[in-house]
Order: sequence, then C-alpha cells, then structure tokens
Amino acid sequence: MSILDKLCVVSEARNALLPPGVDPFNVVIEEIYSATEASIQGRRVLLAGTNNYLGLTFDPQCIKAAQVSLEKEGTGTTGSRMANGTFAGHRDLEKDLASFYCCSEAIVFSTGFVANLGVISTLAGPGDVIVLDADSHASIYDACRMSGAEMIRFRHNNLEDLEKKLKRLGPKAEKTLIIVEGIYSMLGDCAPLAEIAALKKKYGAWLLVDEAHSMGVLGDHGRGMAEAVGVEDDVDFIVGTFSKSLGSIGGYCVSNHPELALIRYVCRSYVFTASPSPSTIASVRAALQAIQTKPQLRTRLWDNATLLYQGLKELGFELGPDLSPVVAIRVPTREKTLLAWQTLLDRGIYVNLVFPPAAPAGMSLLRCSISAAHTPEQVDFILETFSDIKNLMT
Ligand code: PMP
Repeated sequence: MSILDKLCVVSEARNALLPPGVDPFNVVIEEIYSATEASIQGRRVLLAGTNNYLGLTFDPQCIKAAQVSLEKEGTGTTGSRMANGTFAGHRDLEKDLASFYCCSEAIVFSTGFVANLGVISTLAGPGDVIVLDADSHASIYDACRMSGAEMIRFRHNNLEDLEKKLKRLGPKAEKTLIIVEGIYSMLGDCAPLAEIAALKKKYGAWLLVDEAHSMGVLGDHGRGMAEAVGVEDDVDFIVGTFSKSLGSIGGYCVSNHPELALIRYVCRSYVFTASPSPSTIASVRAALQAIQTKPQLRTRLWDNATLLYQGLKELGFELGPDLSPVVAIRVPTREKTLLAWQTLLDRGIYVNLVFPPAAPAGMSLLRCSISAAHTPEQVDFILETFSDIKNLMT
C-alpha cells in the first residue's frame, strides 16, 4: 500500500460516476463577459450558479477602486496580517465592517474558509463543547475537529433536537458554542435564528452565525439573517465571506466581545497565511459601500429569486423549503442530474452540479444561485429551459 492508493479509489469513484470527457467539477470559465455571462466549453452561457448575489463583480466603482489600489499599492502584500500584510486598507476595511455591523470588533481574514477555521478553533478548545447544525459547511466541520472541543451535531434546523442537546449539557452550556448558518448554501433554506437565539439565552451558551450566503441578501441594511429576525444583540460572533455578495475574496468575523481582538495574536489561520491583496480589499470596501447605498440591488435580487423559485415550483420541480437566492432542484438519480446538467450547458445555462457529501442527506442537486444582475428575460430563459428538459429530470 502506498500513500497514493487512496487516490486510486477517488479515480475509480470518478470513473464510475462520470462518462469520459465530462467533468462538471473541473469546469473552466474560458472567458467572462459580465456578472451573468461567460464562455464555457466554447459556447456563450448564462451564469446561474455563481453566488454573485448582488452582481458586484463587474460594478464599475468596485473595479475602479481595485484598479487605483493596484497602481498605487502593487499586486500583493506578500505577508501575513501579523507581519507585513496589514496595509491601511485592511485596517480601514475592519473599521468599515465594524461600523456596518454596529460592532466594536472586526477582523479580516484571507478567505471565509480560514475565517471559520481560525475563529472557531481559537474560541473553542479542549474542555469546551461545540453544538453545530448537521448541515454546516465543510470549513465549520474542519474547524470543530481542529479545535479539540467536544463536537455535538443537532439535526438540521431542528429546534427540539438542539434544545435536547443543550439541556443534556447542564452547566457545561456556558462553555458551549452553538454554530449555525443564516442561509444554508446548498438548499438555500433559512435557520430559525430567532428561536435558536432564544435557546442560546435560555441555556447560557454562545452563538456564532455564518452569514456567508445571507450577508447583502437579508435584513433592511443587508447585514444578514441576524438583522432580518432582530437578534443581532444575541449573536456573539458573525463570520462571513467577501466571495459572495461582496464579489471578491476574503473573510471576516465581527463581534461586540472585545476579546475578539486577541484572536489576532493566536489564531493560526490569521497569523500564518498571507493577507488579501490590497486591490481585493479596495474592491470589497467599494462593494460594502454599494450594499449600503444601493438597496435596490437587494430588491432586484429578491424579485429575481421570487420569479425563479415560484416559476420552478409551478413547473413541478422539487425545491428547497424556503424562497431564497439559492434555488436547488432535487433530481432523483446522479445519472439524471449529470445528464440534465450537461444538457443545460449545451443549451447555454451554467448551474452547479452538487452530489454528496457537498449536498445534504444523500441528495443530488442542480443548484442555481440568482443575482441582482440577472434580467427578468434571463430568468425567463432559465425557466423555459428547465421546462424543456423536465422529462430528463424526473
Ligand atoms: N461558509 C459557508 C456557509 C460557505 O458556503 C462558504 C463558501 N462556499 C464559506 C464559508 C467559505 O467562504 P470562502 O469562499 O470565502 O472561503
């Protein structure tokens, strides 16, 4: 047995699943034309699976801010936040985030993945407990394993199960971090956050919410699920990403606990990785401004999400339980999902193909994510195409 043998198992699984020459997990965007159009496999396609919720990747002000920074500050920081990788922009973005969330503390990380990894594994340690939703993102699972804390899963969005687990902990609840997401990435369903926050208070635990898919999407000011359901004061830590509504790359954590600032000295994924490029930071600052000054983006996003979700529902597709910008269609078998995915691409639409373990509960999904940048005509085109290929998917 060599260390490479486990990769043979991956190759066998891949070959059993995918016909030769088809690899939906290695799609190349050959050219990108806008937030909603690109070239894939030599044809112009409509992008309907990008997490670009507000369409800000091509926002002229974001691009301009990045260009100015690139000219002035160069291509990269070549260092970690703790060494030479904190430029004025990183510090200013942290101030912007703190002010946006009305929080005292904000920390910028290199990605949302390492924000979760670092924050969770620093906050919780041996002797502590993490109670997490079973459908949590891979970065949350990895963080929990890294932390050395006892890890207890509760059934997805199931308040009874969460309460049962908290009750069982007794006095240990005060050393317990509950972790949930605002909108779940694969099915687009929402956490019952008001009720979860009430349970957190009842049992004296701590609460961290990953708002990766809800920041910029929910709440009167776009702050996410905690704002939307009015429990921001009860959420101890919010983690998010720059790679979705903010149209860039990077991650962050905000909190009103002053101790968050101390994480900078001990959090390995902050200390031992290079910080985001200054131009990235500049575009994120401009995008954060856009979220605050252009509420019409959120209105357009929800109009499009409603059109797509209701339209697919009327066509008889099996969707996630909640209306949101993530619209996932359940397909009965992997073979049918794959065929439908390729057919959609051949007809000019890119969506995400999702199999377990990325998809929950053994499901095979065609996952769409809609954007404020889509036109109603583009949403109609998506609906018409799904209608045409429905027979392949049932
Ligand atoms: N949390 C959730 C819920 C996510 O969906 C993602 C990205 N898919 C991340 C964290 C990681 O974010 P990033 O892409 O910035 O690493």
